[in-house]
Amino acid sequence: MKNVYMDNNATTRVAPEVVDVMLPFFGELWGNPSSMHYFGGQVARHIEAARAQVAALIGADPTEIVFTSCGSESDNMATRGGLEAAGPQIRLITSRVEHAAILGPARHYAEHGGEVVEIGVDASGQLDLAELHRELANGHALVSLMWANNETGVIFPIDEIAAMVKQAGSVFHTDAVQAVGKLPIDVRRTPVDMLSLSGHKLHAPKGIGALYVRKGTKLNPFLLGGHQESGRRGGTENVPYIVGLGKACDMAAHYLGEETTRVAALRNRLELGLLDTCPDTSINGDRIKRLPNTCNISFQFIEGEGILYHMSDAGIAASSGSACTSGSLEPSHVIRAMGVPFTAAHGSIRFSLCRYNTEEEVDYVIETLPPIITRLRELSPFV
Ligand code: PLP
Repeated sequence: MKNVYMDNNATTRVAPEVVDVMLPFFGELWGNPSSMHYFGGQVARHIEAARAQVAALIGADPTEIVFTSCGSESDNMATRGGLEAAGPQIRLITSRVEHAAILGPARHYAEHGGEVVEIGVDASGQLDLAELHRELANGHALVSLMWANNETGVIFPIDEIAAMVKQAGSVFHTDAVQAVGKLPIDVRRTPVDMLSLSGHKLHAPKGIGALYVRKGTKLNPFLLGGHQESGRRGGTENVPYIVGLGKACDMAAHYLGEETTRVAALRNRLELGLLDTCPDTSINGDRIKRLPNTCNISFQFIEGEGILYHMSDAGIAASSGSACTSGSLEPSHVIRAMGVPFTAAHGSIRFSLCRYNTEEEVDYVIETLPPIITRLRELSPFV
């Protein structure tokens, strides 16, 4: 079998239809959208069409969408711009399992004297809502909590959280980079103030993202410069990528529902196949409230890196829940926050599927992986 790609939470393949709509903007449609003349005007129209496509996927008004360069920029803009706009003394409430794009700004804020609170999760990766409730009662805050976790796929109850935050009179940002395109999202129903998304997680290219900013939300621009994006982000727009993101959002809207159900069935087939054939194997994270495409699975007594290496040899691409820090393999902060025991934490592997995966690919992994696990366990000092 040729290469099997199951690392879609890291990045996705760009949809061919997305490439098609982008190409003219590397050719005849090269104007600067801010120019008054014909060349600019014909390009500016396409940016606004893409803005409407992105807005439609999450139920927003197009004027509430700001294009950025990636999910990390959206997260930085929401937190750093939101904190700056709110003035001194505001706390940042986040969680222990956020992506580095939130934890980085949180640490920066703390290092500069800001107060940061990191809410914990339980063994299934679910947020401690009682702790959040207590912290919200301690005064005004900017709250940033992810919609879905990139490593485990665990979905936080964002409707409930957003309602709690709004009731407490605080500001709510959600990092929905892994959720957009995989789950139905409607900001008319869910009272988030800001929401981050990233193109390369939903079959648009890397290097394009967006931040939803609800009308009336106080937010300082993160990138200072020209008047682009209604003064909310300086810099000449990345027109081809914006157009590509619009098309990818349009396609994601079309695929939500039936196609995500098919992907969930593939994921379940993979998961049950591996649990059935590999002893001492467990799933990390809430198995119900989880992204349809994600499976984080621990193979006890072996290192994730070893599994990845042998899978890669067999043409299978996934990722591990460990990060190599100065030679020692440390389980990721997400797995650690969930309190997964040492012997399981080290052997955690994330499979993340997408609409291009097939049943044949899943069956190939179910056939190929168990002998790798058996061999590695024979060599393991932990068994
Ligand atoms: N937030 C989450 C939950 C992510 O999974 C990622 C990327 O992996 C990001 C933010 C950052 O997005 P980008 O790679 O577009 O900067």
